Amino acid sequence: MIEPLDQSITAIKGVGEELAEQLADMNLYTVKDLLEHFPYRFEDYRLRDLAEVKHGERVTIEGKVHSEPSLVYYGKKKSRLTVRLLVGRHLVMAVFFNQPYLKQKISINDTVSVSGKWDQHKLTITATEIKTGAASSGSDFEPVYAVKGKLGVKGLRRIIKNAFSQFHGSIDEILPKSLLQQYKLIGRRDAIRSMHFPLSSEDMKQARRRFVYEEFLLFQLKMQALRKIEREQTPGIIQKYDLEKVKEFIGSFPFPLTSAQKRVVNEIMADMKTPYRMNRLLQGDVGSGKTAVAAIALYATVTAEFQGALMVPTEILAEQHAESLKQMLEPFAITVKLLTSSVKGKRRKEILASLAEGETHILIGTHALIQDEVHFKRLGLVITDEQHRFGVEQRRVLREKGENPDVLFMTATPIPRTLAITVFGEMDVSVLDEMPAGRKMIETYWAKHDMLDRVLGFMEKELAQGRQAYVICPLIEESEKLDVQNAIDVHITLSMHFADQYKVGLMHGRLSSDEKDSVMKEFSSNEVQVLVSTTVVEVGVNVPNATVMVIYDAERFGLSQLHQLRGRVGRGSDQSYCILLADPKSEVGKERMRIMAETNDGFVLSEKDLELRGPGDFFGKKQSGLPEFKVADMVHDYRALETARSDATKLIQSEAFWSSPDYEPLRAYLASNGALKGEKLD
Ligand code: ADP
Ligand code: MG
Repeated sequence: MIEPLDQSITAIKGVGEELAEQLADMNLYTVKDLLEHFPYRFEDYRLRDLAEVKHGERVTIEGKVHSEPSLVYYGKKKSRLTVRLLVGRHLVMAVFFNQPYLKQKISINDTVSVSGKWDQHKLTITATEIKTGAASSGSDFEPVYAVKGKLGVKGLRRIIKNAFSQFHGSIDEILPKSLLQQYKLIGRRDAIRSMHFPLSSEDMKQARRRFVYEEFLLFQLKMQALRKIEREQTPGIIQKYDLEKVKEFIGSFPFPLTSAQKRVVNEIMADMKTPYRMNRLLQGDVGSGKTAVAAIALYATVTAEFQGALMVPTEILAEQHAESLKQMLEPFAITVKLLTSSVKGKRRKEILASLAEGETHILIGTHALIQDEVHFKRLGLVITDEQHRFGVEQRRVLREKGENPDVLFMTATPIPRTLAITVFGEMDVSVLDEMPAGRKMIETYWAKHDMLDRVLGFMEKELAQGRQAYVICPLIEESEKLDVQNAIDVHITLSMHFADQYKVGLMHGRLSSDEKDSVMKEFSSNEVQVLVSTTVVEVGVNVPNATVMVIYDAERFGLSQLHQLRGRVGRGSDQSYCILLADPKSEVGKERMRIMAETNDGFVLSEKDLELRGPGDFFGKKQSGLPEFKVADMVHDYRALETARSDATKLIQSEAFWSSPDYEPLRAYLASNGALKGEKLD
C-alpha cells in the first residue's frame, strides 16, 4: 500500500494535472515533497517602532491616513500612489507603484497597515502591501518560497496550506521519543506546520532546530551505516606488528612524541591490527610532526612483514621525505627507496625488481608509484601526503597495488571539523592538534605596499645575521603565465636592490623539474639567500635557516593558503617572521589580514576561512561534492552536526537500534537509502 504522503501531488485538493506539471518543474512530485518544500524566508508583518528600523529594511507599520491619497500617472501604464500616514507623532509617506486601484480602498482617517522598504532619509516606505483596519488580522509571518514558472508565491502558499490541512494527520514522527525528550525537540507534525506557518519567531526557531537535528542525524546514520557495511564486506589485512620493536624505534627519536602524536599512533596501530581495512585521514598543521607518525606506521608494517608506500605530490617533497625516512629507518635495517620519474634506466629496473622481491621495504615517490610496472610483493600500508592533491582515482590505483592494504591520508591543510565530518564521513579522522614543545610562534605583520622599503630594511637585518628569506609573488587568478611574469618582475627588482650583497633566486611553475631542483638546492645550501617564488613552494619544503616570509598581495590568497605559505618559515630554532603586503579594500579582506597576524593555529584559520568563504568555496567548486541540506547549515549549525554524529555512532552500535520498534522509522529510512544491507542488519 502506498503511504499517504508518498502519493502524487494531485492527491491534494485543487491540484490538477496542469499544476502538477508546474510543480514537477520544481522537483516536487509527492505530497511529502511539497510539505518539505520549506520557505527560504518570511515576510515579517510584525508591527515595529520606526525608530528601530534601519534604512533599507523591510517593515510593517500601522498608521492613520492623514490626507486624500494622490495618484499620478506617468509613462506608459505607470502610476504612483502616495498616501500620507500619521504614525505616532510622525508623518510618513507610503508610495505604491503601479497599483492605482488601491486608491478606492483607502479613505482619510482609516487605520491601515503598510508593508515595504523603509527609506530613513525621506521618511518614506516603498510599499508593496496594505491592509485596512487594525493590524493583527492574520499571521505576522508569511512564508516566501522559491518558485519557478507561472506559479507565484501566493499560489504555492495556498497549495501548501491545503496540503497541510488535508494530510497533517499522516505526518509521522521519525525520531525516537528518547531523542525528542533529550533535546526537547518538537514533533514532526508541529515542526512542519511551524516551518511554513509559524505563530511566533520562537515557533519558527523551534521548528528549525528540530529539522536541523533531524537532517544531520539522518545524514550521519546513513554515512555510518554505509561504512559499517563496507567494513563488514571488504575485510582488510591483519598486521601483526612487533610492538617491542616499534617502541624501540620510537625510543631512537631525538625527542619524545607529543601526546597528540602518541594518540594518533595508537589510533593508526589499532586499525592496522584489526581485520578492518584502515581508511584514515591524518590532519596536522605544518610542523606538527606527521612525518614521524608516518615513519612509525611504516616501520610497524615492515615488522609485520609487509611493505609500505608513501606517495607525495612533488619530486622535491619525495626527495625530502626519502632522505629523512632513510635517516630514521636505515639504522633499523629497513630498505627505503625513492621512485620518481627522474629515476630512470638501470637504477629504475633495480628498484622495481627489489620491490617485487620484497627486498625494498618502503617505497617513496610521486605518482610514479602508481604506474603499471610497479609491483609490490606484499603491500600492507599506503600513505599519501597532501591527499587533496591526488584524485580519488589515483588513490584507488595505489590501494589496489596490494590486497586491501591499510590506507592513511595525511594533510597539512587543516580541514574544519565540520567539513571533515561531512566530506570525509566515510573516513576515520585523526588530528595532530598539538605542536612539539619549544616551537616559536611565527610573528606575523600586515604592511601596506607603500611600506615596502621598511619591509626590505627588515629583511636585510635578518639576512645580515646569516638568515634567509622567501618572497612569494602575487597570485593572479587562473593565469599561471601572469603569476610567472610577476615573479620575474619582483626577482629583477630585488636582484637590483640586493645587488652583489645577497644572491636572489627565482622559482616558478614554468621551470623544468631539474631547474626547480637546482634552485631549491641552492637555497637549501644557502648559496641563494633570497628566494622569489610563486606558490610552488607551498608544499612541504624544509629550509630551517629561512626566517623571513614576505607575501605580496596577500589579500589574494585564502587564509589556509597563507598559513601554508607561512609554514615554510619557523622550522628552525630561530624566531621567524611573516610579512603580509596587502592593501585590502573590503572589510572582510582587512579582517583576514588581522586574523593572520593574530593566530598561528591552522585549525582556527580554517574555521575562519570556512566562515568567510562558505563551504562551497572552501575546496573549490570542482571538488566540493558537499551534501546539501534543506534547513541545516554546516557552518552555523556545526554543534548540532557534532551532536548528531556522536548520537548516530551510539545508535548504530546499540542493540536496540536494530531491534526496538522505537527505531523502526530510522531503519526504514536507512533501508530506503540503500544503507541497510546484509541479513545481520535486518
Ligand atoms: P609535518 O610533516 O607535520 O609538517 P614534520 O614531521 O616534518 O612535520 O616535523 C617538523 C619538525 O618537527 C621536524 O624537524 C621533526 O623532526 C620535528 N618533530 C616531530 N615531532 C617532534 C616532537 N614530538 N618533538 C620535537 N620535534 C619534533
Ligand atoms: Mg610533512
